[in-house]
Amino acid sequence: MSLAVQFNFDTTYTKLPAFFYSEIAPTAVATPQLVLLNQGLAQTLGVTFDEQRISEMGEIFAGNQLIPETIPIAQAYAGHQFGSFTMLGDGRAILLGEQITPNGERYDIQLKGSGRTPYSRGGDGRAHFAAMLREYLMSEALHYLKIPTSRSLAVVWTGEPVYRERTRPGAVLTRVAKSHLRVGTFEYARNFQGGAHLQDLLDYAIARHFPHLNDADNKAIAFFEQVMELQAGLIVDWMRVGFIHGVMNTDNMCIAGETIDYGPCAFMNAYEPKTVFSSIDTQGRYAYGNQPYIAHWNLSCLISALLPAISSNKEEAVKLAEASLKKFPAIYEAKWLDMMRRKLGLTQVDAKDKQLIDRLLGWMQGQKADFTNTFFYLQEGKFPETAGYQSPILEEWIADWEQRIAAEQRSIADAQALMRKVNPAFIPRNHKVEEGLKAAEKGDMEPFHQLLEVIQQPYVFRPSFESYQEVPESFDENYQTFCGT
Ligand code: AMP
Ligand code: MG
Ligand code: MG
Repeated sequence: MSLAVQFNFDTTYTKLPAFFYSEIAPTAVATPQLVLLNQGLAQTLGVTFDEQRISEMGEIFAGNQLIPETIPIAQAYAGHQFGSFTMLGDGRAILLGEQITPNGERYDIQLKGSGRTPYSRGGDGRAHFAAMLREYLMSEALHYLKIPTSRSLAVVWTGEPVYRERTRPGAVLTRVAKSHLRVGTFEYARNFQGGAHLQDLLDYAIARHFPHLNDADNKAIAFFEQVMELQAGLIVDWMRVGFIHGVMNTDNMCIAGETIDYGPCAFMNAYEPKTVFSSIDTQGRYAYGNQPYIAHWNLSCLISALLPAISSNKEEAVKLAEASLKKFPAIYEAKWLDMMRRKLGLTQVDAKDKQLIDRLLGWMQGQKADFTNTFFYLQEGKFPETAGYQSPILEEWIADWEQRIAAEQRSIADAQALMRKVNPAFIPRNHKVEEGLKAAEKGDMEPFHQLLEVIQQPYVFRPSFESYQEVPESFDENYQTFCGT
């Protein structure tokens, strides 16, 4: 009899030298129950299932039952965590294989929370239910905001407790990503076994993600610049919607340019570049406004790792590396300006645009104005009557903005139509996320499903969801998020 879930697997990662992974099967869980299944994603992936056999589906997405084509592995990698280099690896994740979609695309299918691996160190290899629901929700939110991201195919309740600051129900999440190649994978290849396998990894990454670079003069530099381009674009997307990743360690930065690792991430409400929610980020290293600088820093780790592949002549390699890395600020700045112009409905370039943008952001920061809602009000042409928005400074700014649009020979309505494509009406507000997770852990999935519904059309204002735009006074002041939960 065929299995309840049908994949179309390949396993190219296992053809890399054994140095890059450990073969390890998931540890079976007590009583798996399928809680969430992402039907839309399954369809895109070409993963099919027999919904009559729901308990068997739970067994498969828990890792209790392996499909025959699977070669389960934990990937080895290293990374800079808060600036310190360390050996890491999948401590609680197991790659089942690579799904080949009906369009011929390739996606990693990985179980997260599936038991211990050779890289678990002191960890239990498990994940708790609320944290996996959080990853499911936040990754879906980014997807619908049109931001490159890993996605979530399923969440299974394990029926086993996990021990954190308190006992919590366990879960396994199925993560889908273009690949799990990280900056940290390259750091691992460069720093262990004398860098003997660096070229293998580079060739693999190019073949898998950037086959057009095969003819480049210097493949390592071409690869690096491609990754730099993707990272700059990704961070600009985060900045556009007020997303704070929260743990931009080099092991959490993917070569394919997707958002990955949804531990302590959160959305900013009041505009403040110093905003940070992660409980362990006491110095604000990964604060909202620091994200571009950290991306640049992470890219410096990537290019350092690539040095021997750039040139066998060390001086030459360093010279080429420095010249490439130096391009980042200008690439980022150009993309950021372009994005901010779109947030303001502008289509042409004016030398004074940066000033116009900074004036608005400065006003928002001083007023502690909500980042998402301010752009929303601007595009709807209607600000609330509350004291904060009845500001002569804002009025003056709006007059200048209107003039700036007029200079493009365009109407305000035309600008506002453009703005609606990039300024979300809805984001997963922190208090709503917590409300949804708390209820779910107690067995009530309704608030979570409501929120999931809201974030699936973030650019469409639906009046029935208006309350999802509200932010409770001072909720964020004591709000904390957590890594590795
Ligand atoms: P993260 O902060 O999520 O990027 O995780 C950092 C490292 O810790 C990775 O190598 C993870 O695989 C590992 N890790 C996180 N949680 C656990 C856990 N519960 N058990 C084993 N390893 C873990
Ligand atoms: Mg990680
Ligand atoms: Mg994590």
